[in-house]
Amino acid sequence: MTSPQTTGQHYDVAIAGAGIIGLATALFLREQGLSVVVFDKGAAAYEQSSRNWGWMRTISQDMAELSLALESRPLWRQWAQEADFGFRPCGLLSLATDGGEWSGLRSWLDHAAGRGLDARIAQSEEVARLLPQFRRPWAGAVFAPGDAGIEPDQAMHFLERKARAAGVAIVTGNAVKRIDISGGRAVGVQTETGFVAAEKIVIAAGIWSRWLCATLGIVLPQLRVTASVLRTTPVEGGPEVNVASSRYCLRRRSDGGYTVARRNSSLTHVTPDSLRFMRQYLPNYLRQKQLLRVRMGMNFFHEWRQERRFGPGRPNPFEDFRTCDPTPDIDTLKETFDHLKEDAPIFRSARIAGTWAGTIDVLPDALPVLSSVARYPGLFLATGFSAHGFGIGPASGRLMANIITGTASATAAAPFRLDRFHLNGD
Ligand SMILES: Cc1cc2nc3c(=O)[nH]c(=O)nc-3n(C[C@H](O)[C@H](O)[C@H](O)COP(=O)(O)OP(=O)(O)OC[C@H]3O[C@@H](n4cnc5c(N)ncnc54)[C@H](O)[C@@H]3O)c2cc1C
Repeated sequence: MTSPQTTGQHYDVAIAGAGIIGLATALFLREQGLSVVVFDKGAAAYEQSSRNWGWMRTISQDMAELSLALESRPLWRQWAQEADFGFRPCGLLSLATDGGEWSGLRSWLDHAAGRGLDARIAQSEEVARLLPQFRRPWAGAVFAPGDAGIEPDQAMHFLERKARAAGVAIVTGNAVKRIDISGGRAVGVQTETGFVAAEKIVIAAGIWSRWLCATLGIVLPQLRVTASVLRTTPVEGGPEVNVASSRYCLRRRSDGGYTVARRNSSLTHVTPDSLRFMRQYLPNYLRQKQLLRVRMGMNFFHEWRQERRFGPGRPNPFEDFRTCDPTPDIDTLKETFDHLKEDAPIFRSARIAGTWAGTIDVLPDALPVLSSVARYPGLFLATGFSAHGFGIGPASGRLMANIITGTASATAAAPFRLDRFHLNGD
């Protein structure tokens, strides 16, 4: 455990979770002159924020999130001038395999028109120019030249260093076990090493936010989805552009290999929470059920047992789960890699050099919560990024910092309010 000296201190803001959202929020709060401490139960950014594909994208983002995606582009560019973390404005090419997918992509493009995007239809000649290594015919394609690729682990090391240099206190290996309430407002956090007082508290705990909220009786309708990823050995002359399709998604890595995954292979288990929040999730699930595989199994009982240990006044096991490190789905990854080799023979000489998985925090409308909590003044949530929080992390952190200091415009914050779910007596 590090930095026990935070115990007994008083901060303007204490944040639970040192992923991209907690760290970016902390950085922008420091820039406004506030004192900030960030706690992580494990190593900084060792869950979703360093396990993702490394895409900064606008294509297929929800309309409510597009401004965060666009505002994040210059922030990433600015940070990339301070350090090399593999930032490459290589563009994203989203490819449709059939008419159904193509009509979905076109409809997104129509909705996004007039919002300042550079995304446009790519004709087959342009697709051939961007992907000369591929020999598959596509039903249609959309290209966003300003979208980018980033090395997530390197970027997160950079962000941690930058936040520390700006004066953010980052305490790792020290879980926030509880938020303390006094006189009806949040007044500090109980960590493994003791109480730390703060004017404002932010829960930015990724998949754990649901449980940290539960210690206060706040209902966050968050579920978990596990996604698997592989990286290849280096490939000479492979594509520069990021590729999105239902057969595979890929990004060229700084080491010359590729990060490869499939967007329609994420897995979720039926748990007590999936039943509890079924009404909220059903509309989105029915629209996108081809993107998700649902399994029934022992997870239901594991979570049910775990749940007994959470809640107001009960102990919680954040200390028992320092890092969520799920087992990757090797069969699906091999199948995905086979699809890639079938479509682009240049990958046939490559091998799978590594695999991993990450667990994603999703919300019913696939939009994050960046919000105060009406029941407890001083408490804020920054969570539920539903698989797109890395690329939009910088602008999301800035928006969250502005919400905390009361300088965010009501319009910018409106889509991300907690009370949109009406689950907390609101
Ligand atoms: C396989 C995969 C691929 C993805 N691809 C992309 C992509 O290409 N582009 C994109 O934009 N997004 C992508 N995402 C999503 C993106 O990674 C996440 O939305 C984003 O990283 C969320 O950041 P976060 O800070 O909210 O959560 P996290 O990074 O999960 O961080 C939460 C932190 O909180 C800590 N914590 C939890 N509970 C406590 C506690 N009680 N006390 C102290 N600390 C605590 C955890 O240890 C963790 O470090 C992907 C995600 C996955 C898993």
